[in-house]
Amino acid sequence: MEQPMQPLSPEKILAVWEGGRQQHELDRALTLLAAGSPGVSRHELADLTIGARDARLLQLRTLVLGPSATGFAECPECGERVEFPIDTAALAQPKELAATAREIELDGTRIRFRLPTSHDLAEVVAAPDEAQGLRRLIDRCVIESSLPDELPNETIKALSRATLEADPQAEIIISFSCPGCGQRWEMLFDIAQFFWDEIAAQARRLLREIDALAHAYGWSEREILSLPTQRRQSYLELVAA
Ligand SMILES: [Zn+2]
Repeated sequence: MEQPMQPLSPEKILAVWEGGRQQHELDRALTLLAAGSPGVSRHELADLTIGARDARLLQLRTLVLGPSATGFAECPECGERVEFPIDTAALAQPKELAATAREIELDGTRIRFRLPTSHDLAEVVAAPDEAQGLRRLIDRCVIESSLPDELPNETIKALSRATLEADPQAEIIISFSCPGCGQRWEMLFDIAQFFWDEIAAQARRLLREIDALAHAYGWSEREILSLPTQRRQSYLELVAA
């Protein structure tokens, strides 16, 4: 997928937020990407491996809000709120992985598998628990092998490890050390959830700005959104003064 991504205009941010509010997180991630990927269908985006999806989400976040972000985590030991810097440009791996087949050898048996995509995850979200979800996911991604229909647990584990090794962008892990008590821990950083929360905050802020300017000047929503950001901010300062 070579098409360059585009930043999101204020109108698009509002449309993405409205479209994604009621969606499952998997669909939200695609709604975000689709808004920033003109000319690419939602179906194509859902065919990206999860790592490739997340690389594009990191790129889009960088385009829309710049590379620097601040995350928060809670110390599992003492409950202190820990702030941590995130550089979305640095976290994005430059090379997009194709969802092509991989192969591992396990106890002398060669197993071909492919990397999971949003389509695959969407098919397994209804699984009753995490272990069964993982089993269904791996089952979907194994391509032709001489294995029994019911894969042994060991095989599921080995395949899930191999999948993560082949698509490392799908799992961003951040290490922490608590300034309060010194506890160290690791946490998964979910760019889809993080970026969605930021877009939701942006959308709410835009609505407040439209509300304030419409009250003050009687302008329409369209007129207010068509103002360059800097100009909008200048009027907001006047209104607040
Ligand atoms: Zn602590």
